[in-house]
Amino acid sequence: MSGRRGIPFVVSAPSGTGKTTVCRAVVECDEQVEFSISHATRPRRPGEQDGVHFHFVSAEVFAERVAAGGFVEHAEYAGNQYGTSWESIDEPLAAGRDLLLEVEVQGARQLRSRRDDARLVFLLPPSWRELESRLRGRGTDSEEAIAKPLETAHVELAAVHQFDYAVVNDSADEATQALLAIIHAERSDATADVRERFGRARVVEGLKGVLPIPGRSCGGGSGYQSSGGLISQLQAPTPDASVSLGSQASASSEKSR
Ligand code: 5GP
Repeated sequence: MSGRRGIPFVVSAPSGTGKTTVCRAVVECDEQVEFSISHATRPRRPGEQDGVHFHFVSAEVFAERVAAGGFVEHAEYAGNQYGTSWESIDEPLAAGRDLLLEVEVQGARQLRSRRDDARLVFLLPPSWRELESRLRGRGTDSEEAIAKPLETAHVELAAVHQFDYAVVNDSADEATQALLAIIHAERSDATADVRERFGRARVVEGLKGVLPIPGRSCGGGSGYQSSGGLISQLQAPTPDASVSLGSQASASSEKSR
């Protein structure tokens, strides 16, 4: 791998799409790709280790790092701060190792505008109906608890247009293979086939009618009304803005990595 720089692969998905399962499987299947370890201000969950799953820091420490320009991207999600530090990506990439950055959509947007080398992959549920049923299948959540992550997912879907690739997570195995195919193709700089199969525009077109993905301009025609203006926050061309998203999704936020 000498002389080769690694590639940062950025993976985002609406809440409930199964992003964590797929990302874990990818890292297990391909030893040349590793997780970037983010900083987070949320409390550690059972089984999580500091420095392995996240660098868990206080809000004060996080704010100091932000002020010092220590993050390549950072965002607030569900009332907590998350960020990718420069050192977490610089050393592995310089050493030729590829990275998987599992981030929410605001962070992905910042990486899009700041890193020419980033390759962005959006995981999509096969349909809105399936997303609802997966969220219901998570447990005994009330209708209200289901409605909130669905509302957030609606907003997150609008971000897909800023991604290079889109992969439908119908089965975790197939989505894992798709992501691996994209990684291998980008590594060998032979992307024609994966662009044909997983190019974002094509995949989004194929989901018309089953998934309410707002159009690029988001100005109408999608039938989707954003509540609280979150879609416009997401699409505002201000890479430095760290808007809060996911506050409604906290009840069902994804499990730890
Ligand atoms: P959780 O707290 O459930 O582990 O993660 C909540 C959300 O934060 C997930 O969508 C996860 O992908 C995202 N996330 C994790 N690390 C980062 C990060 O460094 N930056 C950003 N922007 N989002 C992150």
